[in-house]
Amino acid sequence: GLKDFDDSVSGRVRVAVRLRPQNAEEMVADADFADCVELQPEFKRLKLRKNNWDSDTYEFDEVLTESASQKRVYEVVAKPVVESVLDGYNGTVMAYGQTGTGKTFTLGRLGDEDTSARGIMVRAMEDILANINRDSDSVMISYLQLYMETIQDLLNPTNDNISIVEDPRTGDVSVPSATLVDIRTHHDFMELLRLGEAHRVAANTKLNTESSRSHAILMVHIKRSVTDMESEMASENDHSVHMSRNSKPPIIRKGKLVVVDLAGSERVHKSGSEGHTLEEAKSINLSLSALGKCINALAENSPHVPVRDSKLTRLLKDSFGGTARTSLIVTVGPSPRHRAETSSTILFGQRAM
Ligand code: ADP
Ligand code: MG
Repeated sequence: GLKDFDDSVSGRVRVAVRLRPQNAEEMVADADFADCVELQPEFKRLKLRKNNWDSDTYEFDEVLTESASQKRVYEVVAKPVVESVLDGYNGTVMAYGQTGTGKTFTLGRLGDEDTSARGIMVRAMEDILANINRDSDSVMISYLQLYMETIQDLLNPTNDNISIVEDPRTGDVSVPSATLVDIRTHHDFMELLRLGEAHRVAANTKLNTESSRSHAILMVHIKRSVTDMESEMASENDHSVHMSRNSKPPIIRKGKLVVVDLAGSERVHKSGSEGHTLEEAKSINLSLSALGKCINALAENSPHVPVRDSKLTRLLKDSFGGTARTSLIVTVGPSPRHRAETSSTILFGQRAM
């Protein structure tokens, strides 16, 4: 069903592809050409056109067509991760793709006017708030931007060089200087996302760059105290429960959900082209290729996941691999003019499987 990851393979990354509908500009510009992507959702297959008579076929864990609703995308890609975070594990949901293919639409859409348009961040928080006890549990948020190997606090613009701290004993990763906001209501969360977005626009104006050149990282820390009955029901798959008949101390479960709207994956060929600087391009290539190596190592069940190569992967270290669950959504558009970029996005997704 929708819910189950393949738990027989530890560290497995679940990979979905989502196709954005043709936009108004493409309806005109591509009118005489066939789309470069064809989906066969019933077979979980994507066909990438090579020429008029030939195409390459790829399989994914899920294939989301241009008519897939935001609700369905959430259920397929993110809900299983959110559920396991509520059970006390860490988890990651990431979107990878060329700028303009729907990463922010998929993850960050607020859906103020139309709740059916809400993206994964908002739906995840709705699910989390509906499943915690507001008296005894806590939900704390930080919201970061990672640009040129520097971490900025989107909830406090003056805090613009955050360091990553790793607990040498547990291996847990944290960003102690990042603002942490206690979320009580859906309204709190929407306000926080709006504030973060406003700060992101301001920061990028100041840096003279675009948000597509940086990664946006939402971290949700959940701490629950679980009753004996709940823990008994969940104990079959819970490493944190040690029950004895006589003493039943309160059980605290901590989980961390990280949602990452990655920088645009488009290849940059020349310094200054399309407004990129060479330094920006190098930095994006560094972090995305480090991420690629890590998810590749996870897919191959390799004991060595090379997290040290970039800040992005260092931040995600305790949120993928091991008992953590990871969902990757790769986003593509239909235009044959972007076939090469689309192909490289698809290959990135394939390396994770
Ligand atoms: P990215 O974050 O990858 O650069 P965006 O999320 O900003 O891309 O999407 C680019 C444009 O395409 C936006 O105008 C967005 O509303 C639209 N779009 C993206 N995905 C979809 C979709 N599945 N359905 C309808 N419109 C979409
Ligand atoms: Mg975006």
